[in-house]
Amino acid sequence: MARLEEYRPIVGSDTLEELALLARPLAGKSVLNVNSTAVGGGVAEILSRMIPLLRELGLDARWEVVKGGEDFYAVTKKFHNALHGDPQTVTPKDFQVYEDTLDENLSRMPLEEDFVFIHDPQPAALVKKRRALKNHWMWRCHIDLSRPDPSVWEFLKPYVEQYDACVFSAPSFAQKLNIPQMLIAPSIDPLSDKNRELPESEIQAILERLGIPLDKPLVTQVSRFDRLKDPLGVIEAFLKVKSYVDARLLLVGGTADDDPEGAQVLAEVRERAKADPNILVLCLPPTSHVEINAIQRASAVLVQKSLREGFGLTVSEALWKGNPSSPDRSEESRFKSRTSIRERSFTQRMAPPIG
Ligand code: UDP
Repeated sequence: MARLEEYRPIVGSDTLEELALLARPLAGKSVLNVNSTAVGGGVAEILSRMIPLLRELGLDARWEVVKGGEDFYAVTKKFHNALHGDPQTVTPKDFQVYEDTLDENLSRMPLEEDFVFIHDPQPAALVKKRRALKNHWMWRCHIDLSRPDPSVWEFLKPYVEQYDACVFSAPSFAQKLNIPQMLIAPSIDPLSDKNRELPESEIQAILERLGIPLDKPLVTQVSRFDRLKDPLGVIEAFLKVKSYVDARLLLVGGTADDDPEGAQVLAEVRERAKADPNILVLCLPPTSHVEINAIQRASAVLVQKSLREGFGLTVSEALWKGNPSSPDRSEESRFKSRTSIRERSFTQRMAPPIG
């Protein structure tokens, strides 16, 4: 695990000094983070890197995961889609499953830390214990709440308003609430296995091991197999592009413990991918960080065609790798890589949300 000092060449001394200053009054304070999966997806990606850094800054930071059965994750996935603005049929029984599961979690989680950071809707109702504990509670929302399905938002909002404050990833994702709202930008870790520099020889060895041929330019989307990531839309776009450019499409994904739709979406993607032998579908374990890194670095174009997005950490990962300083890359391929990423980031900013 990288130490804070190792970030100095990347973030500069001012940032490290500011962090130390901010952390000083918090030394020894306990901070609990709670989310719904230990692996897979952006929240787990952020927490796994952030907790050790918080500890190094002197905070007593921990991370817990709520536990639930299949029915709980089916309900919370509906909540997730509904809050992103994709209407769902949510029944009174669904709300009951949600409440019952979080009540069970409350009975085993002391939640007595000085600060409790609850991530996303899945564990949001744990806040009902706050009044008895008198500690500080923050809800960090990693999804786009700008146009939620009212049936789910009306259920969740009274819980959210019991927090001391809530955190959004972008001002446009926020909702009108009667509690203070803060902004924390999503983050990637430049020194993690997912993002650190890789020698060309390692990139090639990893792609060979994964059976990804490098004879044609790779167009890649890295995403959980989730409908809101629109992998079928990526295939349709690729099938159009392919009559102009000879390329290979790579859909790399995995599953997350809290995402019950992944297997179904993967099956649909595999079926559609049969349309063209140039479409490769790769399902990797959620710990394949160095493999994803190598794939992102080897690709000519990285796509993120989400219909709705909370983080889009994969876009930041792509941008971070946009100007690889690997000395054995030719000027030509570096130029190609930079151009494609500039074009992509422009498109991402300009494209209206589809839905
Ligand atoms: N990711 C991964 N393996 C996969 C799919 C995704 O490691 O098979 C990582 C990806 O590199 C990124 C995170 O999971 O770091 C996904 O975050 P993002 O914000 O893009 O989407 P989310 O899954 O949180 O909706």
